[in-house]
Amino acid sequence: MMLGTIFDIQRFSVHDGPGIRTTVFFKGCNLRCAWCHNPESQSTKPQMMFYKDKCKGCGKCTEVCPAPKNCTLCGKCTFYCPVDARKVCGKEYTVDEVFAETKANLETANNSLNDANETISAHEQKIEELETEVSTLTTEQATAETNFAEASNLLTDAKTSLEEAQASLASLQAEKDELEAYKAKIEKSEKEAVLASYNEMLSEEVIEAYTAKIDEYDAVQLDKELAYELKKTNPSVFSKNPQPQYVPKDEPKGGLEEILSKYVNK
Ligand code: SF4
Ligand code: SF4
Repeated sequence: MMLGTIFDIQRFSVHDGPGIRTTVFFKGCNLRCAWCHNPESQSTKPQMMFYKDKCKGCGKCTEVCPAPKNCTLCGKCTFYCPVDARKVCGKEYTVDEVFAETKANLETANNSLNDANETISAHEQKIEELETEVSTLTTEQATAETNFAEASNLLTDAKTSLEEAQASLASLQAEKDELEAYKAKIEKSEKEAVLASYNEMLSEEVIEAYTAKIDEYDAVQLDKELAYELKKTNPSVFSKNPQPQYVPKDEPKGGLEEILSKYVNK
């Protein structure tokens, strides 16, 4: 039976050729290159490897070793070393064993590849969904921007209308103020005319008193007040046959004619 000493079967190897592969490292290389990257491959036989930089010096390996003077490569010390400072390098394989292991690796790799393909497929589906979502959102964004532009135009129009309405309102207010001032002027003239119509019938004191408070009445009220004053001083004015009333113009100086001449017929 053909046997080969193999010191490593490396899965998922990406540094020893194109693609992802399983690399079988045989012992027994006779080239002896000075730059050898795997010097443990040079001997044809299995070897005990010792990693000095890992060793903590606990002595466990020595305690458990059944053949300390002549290592049989039983591997017991490698189970007890707490830091993997010891390793048996190399194991004899038949061709079938190598193929069995690499085939198992291949099946594992195929399963991984299938899983990866499923993952890629799921991601591609997710990407399609996201692209559809992005497309929908882009359309919605465009619609929203159009609506926003239309709303902005409406707002601008509304602002313009509001400004125009405010200008009209200000203009109407000015007109109203002007008309009210004119109306007040007319009303005052009307009241002054009413007051003037009583100048000859009421004393100066009464006329002056009503002149001072003329703003408290409208023309009709003022007329009523003055008529009432007139009634108090000359009731006959309101009788069916009013009697002439004589009001002294100034102080009499003497004599009947002189006295009568001072009176005026109202
Ligand atoms: S491999 Fe076995 S015989 Fe060799 S050193 Fe380790 S325990 Fe001892
Ligand atoms: S058991 Fe490991 S750590 Fe301890 S002495 Fe041996 S090689 Fe070193």
